[in-house]
Amino acid sequence: MVGQEYLKPTLTITAEDLTEKAKSFVKNCGACAVGITTVETLEGGPPSTNLEYVLPGAKSAVTFAMPLDQDKIRDYLAKEDRDAHQVNYNDTNTLATGVASQLASFFEECGFDSVGVQANQVYRNDGESVPWEYRPDISHRLLAVRGGVGWFGLSGNVLTAEYGANVNLCTMVTTAELAPTDPLPPEENYCDCTSMECMAACPSGFLRDAKRERITVTMGGQSFSYGKRTSYDRCIYVCAGFTGLHPSGRWSTWSPGRFPIPKQDEDLKAGASKRAYKAWKQRPYMDGHTLQAPLLFAATGRDVQLSCGGCMLVCTPDKAERARRLKTLQSSGVVIQHPDGTMEAMSPQQAQHYLGGLDDETRALYEPEDPEIYKDMEIMGGDDQR
Ligand code: SF4
Ligand code: SF4
Repeated sequence: MVGQEYLKPTLTITAEDLTEKAKSFVKNCGACAVGITTVETLEGGPPSTNLEYVLPGAKSAVTFAMPLDQDKIRDYLAKEDRDAHQVNYNDTNTLATGVASQLASFFEECGFDSVGVQANQVYRNDGESVPWEYRPDISHRLLAVRGGVGWFGLSGNVLTAEYGANVNLCTMVTTAELAPTDPLPPEENYCDCTSMECMAACPSGFLRDAKRERITVTMGGQSFSYGKRTSYDRCIYVCAGFTGLHPSGRWSTWSPGRFPIPKQDEDLKAGASKRAYKAWKQRPYMDGHTLQAPLLFAATGRDVQLSCGGCMLVCTPDKAERARRLKTLQSSGVVIQHPDGTMEAMSPQQAQHYLGGLDDETRALYEPEDPEIYKDMEIMGGDDQR
């Protein structure tokens, strides 16, 4: 078939054209913020800002933020509906990955090698890193702050001007030489690091040093900082759902696990994680959908389900709304799981009563069989968190 003459490429596409196309493309697909970084603006950054890791000859990257549904987040934090947020989170991730892939395809058709980087769950597996070290091919977060998608918050999450941290990030890397965008003005960052809702929303202690110590990253001569995080194992212990009861005992995440959270990372790694993991593996799935996490699936044959994410979900630009969300999370009780997997939020006292009525084998799915095992560990208690 002979192509129609007037549809054959005749334009000389400029860097400006492509830059504007990249921005309008992702916004047309629902992105709330977009930024562009280049090899120059990322120079001197950590290995996860090396664009050539995913595409030899790469010159630029387009990073964008897809917003999550605010109503579903509020219902999730109130422990009224877990699954609606799970589904929205899955869909938003899949959409973001698809948009990055489609944008890469568009650029390929325009004559530039390009690749979409998955929104998450992809980790380096090379001579220097194994996937369990959780080093991403490309750090969407770092590219996002350098390119002006958002600011770092105290939590280390990327905060967008419109939706705060309630976004999923994704990136397309290309050999096209796009025009870089500037970081957002630091003085407009709504996080003044004093209210610390993210720390208060975190049962694990992952952010406990965030207020005292900062991590600074320099890219292309500009520095960005966020609060220091502890071991990722600490976040995984809670975020994967092994346990969910806050050290105060007054509230929980969506996880029905009630295992102690050691203060020392070594105790967490050496014993506590394994015990809580064993119980988690035998529990029924929570009712509703799952997340596709290949590392955990390959190791356990199980899918993970969203149960936490509090640090990200409480963080909205409006200070009063942040306070409301934190209060909702902390005042919506603790969850228990029924034998068919369904979840129910209730007061801590009612939950104790419910667990007390379970047979030993079922109860061991949620609480330590032998609390004595933890007696030599320092355990996080009510004073560790606000
Ligand atoms: S929750 Fe508060 S302190 Fe934490 S990153 Fe957001 S605005 Fe900053
Ligand atoms: S996801 Fe949960 S456990 Fe992990 S840092 Fe955020 S609040 Fe803490």
